[in-house]
Amino acid sequence: MVTVRLPDTARSGRTAAAAVRTVLGDIAPARLGLCDAHDHLFLRSPQLPGQELESARAAADELAAFHAAGGRSVVQWTPYGMGRQAGRLPELSRAAGVHVVAATGLHQAAHYAPEALERLRREGLADVFIRELTDGIGHSGVRAGVIKVAGGFHCLDAHARWTMTAAAEAHHATGAPIAVHLELGTAGMDVLDLLCGELGVPARRVVLGHLNRSPDPVVHHRAAEAGAFLAFDGPSRAHHATDWRMPDAVRSLADAGFGDRLLLGGDTTTADARSVRGGPGMPHLLRGVRSRLELAVGAELTEQMLTVNAGRAFAVEWSGGDA
Ligand SMILES: [Zn+2]
Repeated sequence: MVTVRLPDTARSGRTAAAAVRTVLGDIAPARLGLCDAHDHLFLRSPQLPGQELESARAAADELAAFHAAGGRSVVQWTPYGMGRQAGRLPELSRAAGVHVVAATGLHQAAHYAPEALERLRREGLADVFIRELTDGIGHSGVRAGVIKVAGGFHCLDAHARWTMTAAAEAHHATGAPIAVHLELGTAGMDVLDLLCGELGVPARRVVLGHLNRSPDPVVHHRAAEAGAFLAFDGPSRAHHATDWRMPDAVRSLADAGFGDRLLLGGDTTTADARSVRGGPGMPHLLRGVRSRLELAVGAELTEQMLTVNAGRAFAVEWSGGDA
């Protein structure tokens, strides 16, 4: 596959500048603008029956609403086999004027048919991830820009260890960042022990999601101290009990000097959570969440979390393939 090297990524010799891999190509991190660092345009899982994000029309409308609120980029954390609709993403991105990053990776076993996992085992999971990051997802030609994996509730089972081992291998082959779903915000340190301690992934290439669902400041600070990015995402009806504590968690981390590794996302996982269906959806990040955080940590840091930090988290020096 021949890839046109965009001016943003060009540099002399073999060293590429750090770039965010979007569905329309690699871009300089400064071009991200206001970024929703964790969200979903498409999502399908047997765990969320009747709530699938499958409508391209609804995805386009939600993206347009996000753009109208000032949003310019979104990272979709929908991994392999969960209805990503990668082939539709370039047109959606172009139409809305919003950069979109797609994901490879694998969620918890419960989201898949056993046969699908068996097939991936035979194929080699790391090879699948690497192919999606360098050649593209299926026949779409759309390359993933992040590897999404998941932990379990206060533990990492054999499936999590398998997927994280493959994610680490794909990271080492490509440079791709790894975004982690923490089940109810737990097991973050176990994830860092495995990915960084055992498997040699630099902590600054790991984004931990959902820490707001377990608002233990000690764990938050330890994860930040280790060097990982912390993505606070929501709100959601399911996690309302902890969502409202997010501004305090962010302020505590900022006060400790970790403001440079905090990210914000909407994590819209059901059709009813979308703004175009009467929920908060993606625009809420730039209206409700932003204004509330400005009260907690000021406008400057809030803006930095939504722009500069996202660029630092998702821009890497890509290698592998013909990137
Ligand atoms: Zn998510």
